[in-house]
Parts: sequence; structure tokens; C-alpha cells
Amino acid sequence: MKPLIGISCGTFHDQAWCPPSYGHRQTYVDAILQAGGAPLLIPPVADEATLRVLYESLDGILLSGGGDIAPSIYGDTPHEKLGLVDLARDEAELPLAGWAITESKPVLGICRGIQVINVALGGTLYQDIPSQIDGSLRHTLSYDREDWTYMAHDISIAPDSRFAQLMGVQTMAVNSLHHQSLRDIAPGLRAVAWAPDGIIEAVEGQGDSFIVGVQCHPEALQASADRRWKSLFHAFVENCATCRSSSALAA
Ligand code: MN
Repeated sequence: MKPLIGISCGTFHDQAWCPPSYGHRQTYVDAILQAGGAPLLIPPVADEATLRVLYESLDGILLSGGGDIAPSIYGDTPHEKLGLVDLARDEAELPLAGWAITESKPVLGICRGIQVINVALGGTLYQDIPSQIDGSLRHTLSYDREDWTYMAHDISIAPDSRFAQLMGVQTMAVNSLHHQSLRDIAPGLRAVAWAPDGIIEAVEGQGDSFIVGVQCHPEALQASADRRWKSLFHAFVENCATCRSSSALAA
């Protein structure tokens, strides 16, 4: 049986007269399918009991990209450059991330997802890189060019990390579509990749379970622009499969 992987959804407002949609970009689903997983879109339901039912059916969680996390959650006041906040989404993703990490269910965080992992464990964020970090690169460059596969900057990867082992390299070019980034790293996490300006571009858990967060968008690169990212999705799905079989043994 393929492992069942929940992909957290955003809320999309297309036309004012239509109800909003829950969903995500097709590339997240494609990346999970191509790595051998069964993707399931998880809507941002606010009720924790319902969320728990959804969570228990999953073998792993992919926290997807999106808008900004409410700063009050990590003890900050809103910066004037804070972007769109979706409280319902925060209230769904933060418990999902917290449960998965506590209960050793694999978690992969992408863009907003790396930020959700950090905040769920007690870390903080820069609310706006250009106005809060002097000399920073333009981390919205792929977005500004309207090209998900535009390689905006390099990252350097800690050689002794699980992430370096997975990717097989210590330097690579990545796309970049974010204006926020990790500030204080939460206990239990370790920063393992950085942009040339020092912005944290990847984290991993310090324990045995699979916890990886990346600030770039590998789901948009793995199919053709940079196939090396397939290793990350394969490792995630394999860990989810192991998690599935060990929970089946326990039951
Ligand atoms: Mn970046």
C-alpha cells in the first residue's frame, strides 16, 4: 500500500461573488505521486477533534506554501510589511505539525511550511526580509519574474546534515518566492542550509524521525528544472511508508 500523505491547503479567493476554494498548486500533488505516495488534500478545518481524525488517517504531512503566519502566535506584533494572514490555516497547520513531530510522523515543510514547523516548536520569524535584514538578497525574485523555476540564489548546506546526505551536494541554486524567513530556531531543530546573505533556507529535526523544512519550492523543480530534488520527496515518502508499516504492526 502506498503511504497516505496529507497536503495542507490554502484558501483561495478567486471572484468576490463566489465562495472561496480550498486547495493547492498541482506541483505538490505531482511531486508526491511521482515519489510513490498517495496525496490527500487537507482543508484548514478549525475544529481540533475533526483535525485529529484527519491526522490519524495520514502516514505523513506535507506543509505547503502560502501566506504569513499571524505574528501573535510567536509573540510578535505585526510589522507594517506583514502580508496576508489566514488564521484558520494557522489554527489547522500548527496542531498538525505539533502532533506529527511529537508522535514521530514524517513532516516535510515547504516555504510557509518550514515556518510552520519552526513556529509550532516555539521558534520565531522575520516578518519581512527586505525591511528587517540589511544587505539581504531579493528572496522574491522567482515570484517577481513570474517563473517558479527561476534560480534566484545559491544555498550552502551543512556537510554533516541529513539534508546534505539526501541531496548529495553542499551547494546548489534554488528558486525563491518568500519575503519572510526563520529568525530564532526552535529547540529540537537545526538550521542546515543558508543563502549567501545568511537567511536560513533549510532545517531538520535533531532526532531520528523525518522532519525537514525548506524555504525554496522543490515541488516546482523536481519534475524537470532540477531532478536532484526527487531524492527529498523519495526520502519523505519512504519514511511515511515505514511509519505506515510500523503503525500497522502496533495495531
Ligand atoms: Mn530564498
